[in-house]
Amino acid sequence: MRTLLIVSVLLLGCGDPPAPPRPVAKPSPRKKSPPSPPVVVQEPVDSPVDIPPTLPEPPASTSPFRPPLLPDDARPRPDLEALALKGIRCYESKHIRLFTDLPEDLAATFPPLVDRLHESLEAYFGPLPSLPDGGTFQVNGYLMRDRTRFDAAQLVPFDLSQIQHGRHRGYEFWMNDQTSDYYRRHLLFHEYTHCFMTITPHALRSRPWYIEGMAERFATHQFDESGRIRFDVFPDTPVGFEGWGRIQLVREAIRAGEPRTAPAVFAMVGADFATDNRLYAWSWAMCRFLEDHPLAQKQFRTVSQVVDPNDPDRSFLRLFRDAEAEIAQDWWLFAHHLCDGFDVERAATTFTPSLNIRANRGWQSTGLRVEPGKTYHLSAAGRCVLATTTKPWTSEPDGISIRYNEGRPIGRLLATIRPDPAPGQPPPVNMLDELSLGSSAEFAAPRSGTLYLRINDFWNDLANNTGHYTVSVTPLP
Ligand SMILES: [Zn+2]
Repeated sequence: MRTLLIVSVLLLGCGDPPAPPRPVAKPSPRKKSPPSPPVVVQEPVDSPVDIPPTLPEPPASTSPFRPPLLPDDARPRPDLEALALKGIRCYESKHIRLFTDLPEDLAATFPPLVDRLHESLEAYFGPLPSLPDGGTFQVNGYLMRDRTRFDAAQLVPFDLSQIQHGRHRGYEFWMNDQTSDYYRRHLLFHEYTHCFMTITPHALRSRPWYIEGMAERFATHQFDESGRIRFDVFPDTPVGFEGWGRIQLVREAIRAGEPRTAPAVFAMVGADFATDNRLYAWSWAMCRFLEDHPLAQKQFRTVSQVVDPNDPDRSFLRLFRDAEAEIAQDWWLFAHHLCDGFDVERAATTFTPSLNIRANRGWQSTGLRVEPGKTYHLSAAGRCVLATTTKPWTSEPDGISIRYNEGRPIGRLLATIRPDPAPGQPPPVNMLDELSLGSSAEFAAPRSGTLYLRINDFWNDLANNTGHYTVSVTPLP
């Protein structure tokens, strides 16, 4: 935990292609007094997540962190004919009633997608508790192109003075129309995910990095060749994700010399989201990293079941205490090298020592200690294949000098030194500096620590690599 405090998470939700939503049945008058609302949350840009636990307390005996029932669903049921006169129509599926002034051919595509999202959310978090009346979980979503129509129809509560992008509350969310087709769907999925996650007293519901990061994760979506939608994807190209830009925002922060350690991400407060859009990017990145990292994934997926709402932060960090230094180390690497399609699983550092350095992994421990002021000789031999296009891209330890990643030939053997920890302290997080070694090199150790090696390649292109180099290192007199 201490390291996590010093430095610092793919669910494939396949569904059917969009189908026309069924028409809405009978209207009923909007209730004058909606249920007592928790704090309204604005998304993204100004979304301070600070939701007090106003929902029923879970029973202590059986399911400690989940209520037996969802709160009453007291959504307004507006007069649809009156709404139609104002240019607002309702499109309904199993899990959403979408009120919007968007054209029908666009608006009708969204509700079936929300149902697919709901399936993905339940597959990850488990099914929601039942409604008190035995009904189905469904939300009202208001997707507003011309806000004045919705104000005139009294569909926006008076206390929602400003909606910069979106807000959610209980069984309802409101969002402004977006210019990008991708981001319009993204924001709608983001808000729905908030409704799903916060309708129960989730232990981390007041921790914006988690609530925003998970909403960003599930909202990030893609259609496959057959037209099926997948949620919770890690974009491997900006194309098709127009308006999202989370990876770009993190990269800009790194270039600006403003990286965020894990504790800095965990400590982000809701009010700061109102002024710094990059916090959504950091939140997404952290949730994505913990979900995909081999030493964190299993524990991170249990967060919604095992984190104690009465002590959420320490309870959360305890999940990772067996590998806190290693996770912290790799967060720092991930944050600094983040790119489209970053392969978190394969790029994770290998801490088990070996002198066979695999091409399809990130940094790998040699188990060899080095001392500052001393000089060492490294020799490496072997072959690996880094890609196969018209022919295999075969490399030896000096690398392939016609293709470069981060300024060095792919296939080249690189080194870094994981510093020794101070007595009683975890290892400092510093494996960003690299030595370019190749097949034969003398090098002076810049600090004491353990020698780590890797075969240079793009951080998003490790999966198709095969082979390894075998190395030997000897200290020079
Ligand atoms: Zn949000």
